[in-house]
Amino acid sequence: MAVSPRKIVHVDMDAFYASVEQRDDPALRGRPVVVAWKGARSVVCAASYEARRFGVHSAMPALRAERLCPQAVFVPPDFVRYKAVSRQVREIFARHTDLIEPLSLDEAYLDVTDCKTGLPSATAVAEDIRTAIRVETGLTASAGVAPNKFLAKIASDFRKPDGLFVVRPREVLDFLEPLPVERLPGVGKVMQQKLAELGIARVVELRAVDARELERRFGRYGRRLHELSLGIDERPVTPDRPTLQISSEDTFEHDLTLQDLAPHIERLAGKTWAACEREAAGEHGRIARSVVLKLKTSDFRILTRTTTPAERPASARGLAEIACMLRSRVSLPPRTRYRLVGVGLAGFVDRDSHEAQTELFHRLA
Ligand SMILES: [Mg+2]
Repeated sequence: MAVSPRKIVHVDMDAFYASVEQRDDPALRGRPVVVAWKGARSVVCAASYEARRFGVHSAMPALRAERLCPQAVFVPPDFVRYKAVSRQVREIFARHTDLIEPLSLDEAYLDVTDCKTGLPSATAVAEDIRTAIRVETGLTASAGVAPNKFLAKIASDFRKPDGLFVVRPREVLDFLEPLPVERLPGVGKVMQQKLAELGIARVVELRAVDARELERRFGRYGRRLHELSLGIDERPVTPDRPTLQISSEDTFEHDLTLQDLAPHIERLAGKTWAACEREAAGEHGRIARSVVLKLKTSDFRILTRTTTPAERPASARGLAEIACMLRSRVSLPPRTRYRLVGVGLAGFVDRDSHEAQTELFHRLA
């Protein structure tokens, strides 16, 4: 029996934080705006489209952004305002469906297969949402409509900014064929390189490889790659999925010793901290209790070291210090070299319950 396909919409606000800043301060409109904290290790949280023309993009070191675009206006992030707009947008989504899965303050998946508003199509829902966002918040959003999550996310990027792109079920295979493999979820620089070595640059080439061959080379992810190449993605839209871990990692061109890792750990801690500010902000004030250091040796052994300090890290610097300290728990020979390091925050708890517990702890102490 044929199952009728799901209707998934991915909505993504355009240059969100920078757009909020330009909306609220007319002097910033039409100018390159970079949202970032001050400081040598700061990373860009968002860049306006005017700044992107100079090659500035989010997650880039702020110092590099300054070099690329010296005339940019740098604004520190104001998550209180971004969260308020995010809530407004979430309320617009909720008119159409309860199946809303936020990915961050400015992005969400919606399952509109059974839509509350009774609009005739997912495309109509997406247009209705985009209009409401424009009218009610003064900001623009892009949307992708597709039979599953990963296609909807690719589609929302296709007509950015202020655009809509629809992938109908019968168009899925043709839509995917010409795309570069790095568009697929999970294909980063390293996987892209590995696939390139096999002569695979586009989805059409990936699809031609036998599923068992992909599985042999890449394990379970190989199977997933095969499914993605066929446009298969059964992951449901999960409302308010709690964050398990937020992390950033880097693979090096040349393997490094444990000692050499300090500056990398510091940089990654900055990235992870910024991501946590963004992501956890969308989840009603959840906070991380644990710090994770991940390492991969030159012979591909993966090790993780985790600690839950009495005082949770309160800044990027604090996170970096704890992560650097976790190196002392690695007991491999000093000559061991590492090809990857990652810094993560985990053990998320509700801020309220955390504060209640801390208070109890102090009273007992
Ligand atoms: Mg966005």
